[in-house]
Amino acid sequence: RPKTKEEVMERVRELDVRFIRLQFTDILGLIKNVDIPAEQLEKALDGQVLFDGSSIEGFVRVEEADMLLRPDPQTFAVFPWQEQGEGATARLICDVCHADGTPFEGDPRGTLKRVCAEAAKLGFTMMVGPEPEFFLFLREPDGRPTTKPIDQASYFDLGPVDRGEECRRDCVLALQKMGFEIESSHHEVAPGQHEIDFKYTDAVAAADNIATFRFVVRTIAIQHGLHASFMPKPVAGVNGSGMHLHMSLFRDGENAFYDPSQPDGVSPLLKQFIAGLLLHAPAYTAICNPLINSYKRLVPGYEAPSYIAWSERNRSPLVRIPARRGRSTRIELRSPDPACNPYLALAVTLAAGLDGIKRGLTPPPAVNRNIYAMTPEEREAEGIGMLPQSLRDALVALEADPVIREALGEQVYRRFVEAKSIEWEIYRSQVHQWELDQYLSIF
Ligand code: GLU
Ligand code: MG
Ligand code: MG
Repeated sequence: RPKTKEEVMERVRELDVRFIRLQFTDILGLIKNVDIPAEQLEKALDGQVLFDGSSIEGFVRVEEADMLLRPDPQTFAVFPWQEQGEGATARLICDVCHADGTPFEGDPRGTLKRVCAEAAKLGFTMMVGPEPEFFLFLREPDGRPTTKPIDQASYFDLGPVDRGEECRRDCVLALQKMGFEIESSHHEVAPGQHEIDFKYTDAVAAADNIATFRFVVRTIAIQHGLHASFMPKPVAGVNGSGMHLHMSLFRDGENAFYDPSQPDGVSPLLKQFIAGLLLHAPAYTAICNPLINSYKRLVPGYEAPSYIAWSERNRSPLVRIPARRGRSTRIELRSPDPACNPYLALAVTLAAGLDGIKRGLTPPPAVNRNIYAMTPEEREAEGIGMLPQSLRDALVALEADPVIREALGEQVYRRFVEAKSIEWEIYRSQVHQWELDQYLSIF
């Protein structure tokens, strides 16, 4: 991958790139882009491409509409599929700045960079390996997506090669061409559900990768006549889609979560990080599980967490320590879903873990039994709380947590809560099919 402006320019000439898509994400995590012809690239790399930020969800007030896009040369990637017209199309992910070049507080990538810089002050670099899950659904003849799964297979199944597997394989190939190091991919538990795991990287690159991943998978699925959905719980009664985050902190090139002198091989630092993740879980849930629908996934019985606890073995808690040690020592946070804004999700979870380290917190004892089988009294005795049960509850918890609010920054925090409160109000004033089925004929 190119590191400098000159290297990008060279690649563009070499690969006959005619168009460059300058990308960034809004507060909701949706990719936005401005297309420029290759002739404008030099200007763009010098930070001279302005755009009107006022029309983007959660961006600026009208009076400060002019924003600057600052492309990050290391994010240069050519789209592996054929776009219309001649020559190739590439993309560059950008930082969003004010017209005078100062970072824009409402840019989620900037938010993550700021929290990473705080970690760096303590000597840490966070590494993240995401495990996004998604569904492949059939489309109606007119193209509308359905919730009919493409196959009836289940976890790790090896079927007669079906359209789902072919599509997944093409996703992997496209991602590899764009520079992803794919570790594995498999069929997940629910019919039509898949997972593709890629190698851990530093947090900003991981967030860039997640944003790119969703859009590549959607594009390839369209080419197969399918619809790829990252909706957390598209089908009731079967597993939803999560996006587990494997996180570790590196210091001076070494994994600071590994400690061979401890009986369990993990450092006190890892435990402090977990303590922070548990303490701030109610507040960062709004960011990691940002849809009304997210909360239909966080219910017992579908391998998604609903209690705030950690474990060394059991998979039901919020945080788990996978068995690997050495450089691969890490924690797995199991609540995030693939609909989140990856930049903000990594910013708030890193801030939560760092707070545990800064304050030297100790987590409650690990829970190595099935939490769902415990009585409420037993859970209470072990100090096991619940994750918020709705977007509304999650927003209330976010409001109450100064550490997570500070990680987001005032502007992102306010815009996020504003947009999500509107979403909640619209939802709660609907009459749903379930209510009609349940009440109409009886009352
Ligand atoms: N699909 C499950 C979830 O909603 C996770 C399954 C797994 O352990 O990979 O989080
Ligand atoms: Mg999985
Ligand atoms: Mg996992």
